[in-house]
Amino acid sequence: MYQTVVIGAGIAGAVAARALAEAGSGRVLVLEKREHIGGNCYDRPDEHGILIHAYGPHIFHTNDEGVFEYLSRFTDWYLYPDGHQVVAEVEGRHIPIPFNLNTLHLVYGEEKAKVLEQKLVSAYGAGSRVGILELKKSKDADIRQIAEYVYENIFLRYTMKQWGQTPEEISPEVTGRVPVLISRDNRYFQDKYQGVPKHGFTPMFERLLAHEAIEVQLGVSAKERITVKDGAVLLDGELFSGDVIFTGALDEFFDCRFGRLPYRSLRFDFEHLDETDFQGRPVVNYTVSEDFTRITEFQYLTGQTGCDGTTIVREYPFAYSGAPGEIPYYAILNEENGVLYEKYRGLTAGLANFYLLGRLAAYKYYNMDVMVQKALTLAERIMEEKR
Ligand code: UDP
Repeated sequence: MYQTVVIGAGIAGAVAARALAEAGSGRVLVLEKREHIGGNCYDRPDEHGILIHAYGPHIFHTNDEGVFEYLSRFTDWYLYPDGHQVVAEVEGRHIPIPFNLNTLHLVYGEEKAKVLEQKLVSAYGAGSRVGILELKKSKDADIRQIAEYVYENIFLRYTMKQWGQTPEEISPEVTGRVPVLISRDNRYFQDKYQGVPKHGFTPMFERLLAHEAIEVQLGVSAKERITVKDGAVLLDGELFSGDVIFTGALDEFFDCRFGRLPYRSLRFDFEHLDETDFQGRPVVNYTVSEDFTRITEFQYLTGQTGCDGTTIVREYPFAYSGAPGEIPYYAILNEENGVLYEKYRGLTAGLANFYLLGRLAAYKYYNMDVMVQKALTLAERIMEEKR
């Protein structure tokens, strides 16, 4: 009856399902463990009518015209006029991050900053992006001093909270997401398109999945329906010869038989305030104090106006344990975990037409736009194989 079973209705699963349905691959069954679509992009109005991101702030950003055009079929956008901008709270002051030349001037004062700016520009070039760990290795004592400031005031405590490890201990790819910018660009991302779906992510997912060939079943754990036995895939106990696109956590699908793949999780502490404004901006990172990493104020993230009061969320990271209700948000990228992941991946290698897609299933740190691209590419590949 079904040609494809997609496990998970997050961005990877929803885009893959849509692309296959439109390509005429046959009926697509989407099985979603939670009671809603959209994965961690899911948003909804809270009891005060304020649109919140239930799983923490999600900002869509991309330079990929194709991806932007594709999603624009399913949503209009609220694009940030000046890009997404974030500040860090350091000693009672808000300073722009990524650390850039504006931050340099705020921190060091005009006179000293001018000299330091010259040094940074001649060492790395105007407009360049330098990872904090690379900056720390500079032979120039002044540059090392800047690096030390950035390391201490932006990276160390935040990273300890987020990962339970120092910036040196985690994958350089992770801190590399927030490089020092040798420019006056206060935007958090340098992508051309930055914003959120105008009416929220959830309506965008509703449209993505609204196709006559797609059937979505909520509250269904993949393990209840899909099993792997003797090198074959079974759906409801019967041999399934269609395609399976799996976007969940691979270790849990295989009952953690080699041990758990480590992930970081988050506790979200939402608070509604009877004030028109709390922090005047979407995101403030707490890089030197507090137990939470950041505070998001939703009205500025979503562009919603005319709200009654304001809703904020604080994020408290912790080690995912697999306990009921916990959600694995971030793969912890390192060699040991990569080896363990490959063992799990090996269990699917011999299966015909069993595809792994998405942050969880690939055990990677992907942005939304990359996920859309990968989902479209996979759908194309599957269609190619049928020809
Ligand atoms: N980071 C940091 N301080 C900041 C912002 C980021 O130390 O103020 C580090 C931290 O290790 C974080 C990583 O850079 O996990 C990537 O940050 P990003 O904002 O991309 O994280 P996300 O928004 O995906 O949680």
